[in-house]
Amino acid sequence: MSFPDCRADLALRDGYHSPQVDVAVRLNTNESPYPPPEGWRRDLASAIDAVEFNRYPDRAATELREALALLHRVRPDQVFVANGSNEVLQSLCLAYGGPGRKAAVYEPTYALHSHIAHLTSTEVVQASRRDDFSVDVDLVADVTSFSKPDITFLCSPNNPTGDALPAAAAAEILGLSPGLVVVDEAYGDFADWSAVSLVDDEIPLVVTRTFSKTWAMAALRLGYLIGPARVVSALERVALPYHLDAFKQIAGRLAVAYDDEMRQRVGAIVSERSRLQSALGDLDVEVWPSEANFLLFRPESRKGDEVWHALVDRGVLVRNTASWPGLPSGCLRVTVGTPQENDAFLSALKETL
Ligand SMILES: *Cc1c(COP(=O)(O)O)cnc(C)c1O
Repeated sequence: MSFPDCRADLALRDGYHSPQVDVAVRLNTNESPYPPPEGWRRDLASAIDAVEFNRYPDRAATELREALALLHRVRPDQVFVANGSNEVLQSLCLAYGGPGRKAAVYEPTYALHSHIAHLTSTEVVQASRRDDFSVDVDLVADVTSFSKPDITFLCSPNNPTGDALPAAAAAEILGLSPGLVVVDEAYGDFADWSAVSLVDDEIPLVVTRTFSKTWAMAALRLGYLIGPARVVSALERVALPYHLDAFKQIAGRLAVAYDDEMRQRVGAIVSERSRLQSALGDLDVEVWPSEANFLLFRPESRKGDEVWHALVDRGVLVRNTASWPGLPSGCLRVTVGTPQENDAFLSALKETL
């Protein structure tokens, strides 16, 4: 009996994985090292009691969007919410990409931008960042005029390199682009400047955000976008009915009330980041500046792969980006953890080198 094949163009693609190894210190997926606030857990537990689980949720996620709009000083009709910012990216590709359309990416960057573009049959135009990983605005001008991408993906701070897009470059790129400019700010809270300040109903810019990193709620799968109202309406057209469940809507709305606590955690992680950065600077590694909650580094004297394995043997998991396309070979990426986790990482690394 013959069995139906899936789409031929999927044969070459693996799903996206970040290998997990069962070790004590996990610094590989840029999660928050701290659990969410206790108060939020309590608020959530009592709010869940009142949910009518036999009914469909509020399709427009009204209260959650209002809370996010207040947080970012925009209107609720400029907020789109989904199951993780990855689903926001997928909705963007469904609405603005697709067959016959193009998305531009500047590598090395977040692998999901091109992955989701491919899955939605959007043609991917790949260009490079400079050697210092900054985005070359002149190159963006060339790519834009030559390929006319419908979507330009930028990531700021960029994963895996940690550098943020300067405000001036963002403004210049917006002046060039005929299509939609997407700034993925999964790590935006760790940086000094946010492209949310440029969002306007007449500017084709959207900014994506997530509860997975700063909000310490990766398990929740909640992300959102801030952008022009007409982009939000286009995204609503491709979203499945009731795509955001009642639990998530409540959890996100209640989380926003803990904005101050979230900011304190960001402050703590940023100061640990500086400590980790200077400690790495004292070792035999190259380390890049970062405005995110992770650092990219490259051992000088040993192969990245070997160092990665040696760290795992010592109970510390970092992200193995040693052969990540577009990165110098042998780089590794470490998430900023608690002070204890960072110490464990530093001593394992010292032993290894
Ligand atoms: C972690 C990360 C995300 C998060 O995606 P979610 O689906 O919200 O968990 C998005 N973009 C980048 C660049 C990331 O590193």
